Amino acid sequence: MSENLSGNMTHQIICAIYEKIKAYDRIMLFRHIRPDGDCVGSTKGMKGIILNTFPEKEVYLIDEQKSDFLSFMGEDDAPVADEMYHDALGIVIDTATTDRISNKKFALCKEIIKIDHHLEREPYGVINWVEEDASSACEMIAKFFVTLKNDVKIDRDSAAHIYTGMVTDSGRFRYDGVSGDTLRYAAALLDQGIDTETLYAHLYLQNFETLKFKSHVYQQMQMTDHGVAYIFISHEMQQAFDLDFESASACVSYMDAIKGCLCWLAFIENTQDHTIRVRLRSRFASINHIAEKYHGGGHACASGATVYSKEEMEALIRDADDHIKAYKESHTGWL
Ligand code: AMP
Repeated sequence: MSENLSGNMTHQIICAIYEKIKAYDRIMLFRHIRPDGDCVGSTKGMKGIILNTFPEKEVYLIDEQKSDFLSFMGEDDAPVADEMYHDALGIVIDTATTDRISNKKFALCKEIIKIDHHLEREPYGVINWVEEDASSACEMIAKFFVTLKNDVKIDRDSAAHIYTGMVTDSGRFRYDGVSGDTLRYAAALLDQGIDTETLYAHLYLQNFETLKFKSHVYQQMQMTDHGVAYIFISHEMQQAFDLDFESASACVSYMDAIKGCLCWLAFIENTQDHTIRVRLRSRFASINHIAEKYHGGGHACASGATVYSKEEMEALIRDADDHIKAYKESHTGWL
């Protein structure tokens, strides 16, 4: 399945997923490595919908990878014996390819359903519901809920989890993929009585040290001739600001509002595996092909990659600069 599914087709897929859920006594949920708000919110939200609708079913969300930033959404489930996977339905959400599924035991499940909004590369499920135009996987889970609202139930916490992923993956409903439907599905979640003041406090309050780090990023960031902003966050810098890897990686978003800068890159040194994580973001011009050239991939304007040396980092910056130069020369209307 790919982008622009007709409404009728989406309805059929959602009903087919619902029938699968009905048919299984045990359901396991899976998400991608390096958990973010969308994959955590969508899996927790789906778990809530299933348990509210079918309290007699067993539903597990088991994952060793955690995010401190998202700990307010609660713990995952404790590990279970491998045999428990064998007769279970696996639902993998927000994960384009099997190599990015965090809990590798997904492969033990009897059947797998894929629900995702990334570019379709690997339709690994017996059902593959992929909507490349959806602003988040959480939007798809909200759509699942709204489409089946006469059959399924949700509680306030699960609605809040789904809403959280919609907010984080769409940059607070600002990014390109946000449609009228996005807001209609978000409205259906808000109708459940979500405490948005507390939610936004969890998501957006910053501590004093983070703001100090932010000011350091603004001091240190560089700009290429044609408007690619970039920063390298060394291991020493991470230590100096007492940052874990994910908090250091968040710096990419600090550079997202520079006039004339259509692409911004964060390089974060990872001394554990001797790599440099690359986070690529852009406005107007797509950059996922650059991520793909450097061992990564992702969305048109938000991708991830890995480089293995400073030389490779510099080559990526040059590629991005060439690309933005060409884009600016052949387009008008960018800012
Ligand atoms: P990140 O900067 O890591 O948040 O990544 C931005 C987007 O690109 C996310 O939707 C990721 O799922 C996707 N992405 C990151 N790294 C990769 C990769 N190595 N391969 C494919 N997609 C990726």
